[in-house]
Amino acid sequence: MSVLDLFRLDGKVAVVTGGNRGIGKAIAIALAEAGASVVVAARDAERNEEAVAELSKVGPAALAVTTDVTDRAALVAMRETVTERLGPIDVLINNAGVGIHGESLTLDDEGWQRVMATNLDAVWKASQVVGEQMVGRRTGSIVNIGSMSGMIINRPQWHAPYAVSKAGVHHLTRSLAAEWAPHGVRVNALAPGYTKTEISDIDDPKWKHYWIDEVPMQRYAQAAEIAPSALYLAADASSFVTGSVLVIDGGYTLW
Ligand code: NDP
Repeated sequence: MSVLDLFRLDGKVAVVTGGNRGIGKAIAIALAEAGASVVVAARDAERNEEAVAELSKVGPAALAVTTDVTDRAALVAMRETVTERLGPIDVLINNAGVGIHGESLTLDDEGWQRVMATNLDAVWKASQVVGEQMVGRRTGSIVNIGSMSGMIINRPQWHAPYAVSKAGVHHLTRSLAAEWAPHGVRVNALAPGYTKTEISDIDDPKWKHYWIDEVPMQRYAQAAEIAPSALYLAADASSFVTGSVLVIDGGYTLW
């Protein structure tokens, strides 16, 4: 057996929340290339189908399941559909997320709650819904997409709820990892730095000094640069890794 075989996911079923664009889609493509049947679970049915068409060209049959991750019933329905169509879930990538900028004195409760509902509460709900099945089968790998924003305070933009939600994701990762390790389920997280996707207006010159010049590598990431680390944590290559938060930030959090 070659070490590269440990990165294969042949015969596995992987769900990627928010897998229809950005970092989620890049991860979905990586998992499909590694041999997994990938499920794209996001709200926009049309974009989900477009992503599935792309995935099916590089891996086994993929499946789109329209899912709002903030809705527990929708998550349970997604799990049941996937189990019926493809089999039980081996890998869960909790990637769906929303960003928000706003000063804390003026940001309203709705803004706070919307960010928490998608970025943190939904990771809890999806992990519980899918984790129940994984713990029952004594196998599974969950990868949560946190952020370097859960480790430092970004500048110049203020986004307290986003930062708090991602810090929560990192600690939820550690909590679930400890609790489910004896049951054969691993839980890890990625903490990406600035990455070019629809969530961030990264090319706006007003951010350049803070988001590029201050990064030791002097650039932002492409989504495809985040995906290989998700594959590593999803696959047996990381069989003794649990509760880790893997930072992928071009060195930003080193200063
Ligand atoms: P995008 O805005 O490009 O994509 C977000 C994805 O999440 C979409 O597929 C969207 O699909 C899905 N989504 C949002 N809300 C829901 C919901 N309620 N239910 C299901 N799916 C939902 O963002 P990115 O790819 O940039 O971000 C992906 C993750 O990476 C997020 O968790 C983000 O916080 C994190 N991250 C991003 C960084 C960056 O610089 N881009 C840096 C660090 C972390 P749909 O609208 O169809 O539901």
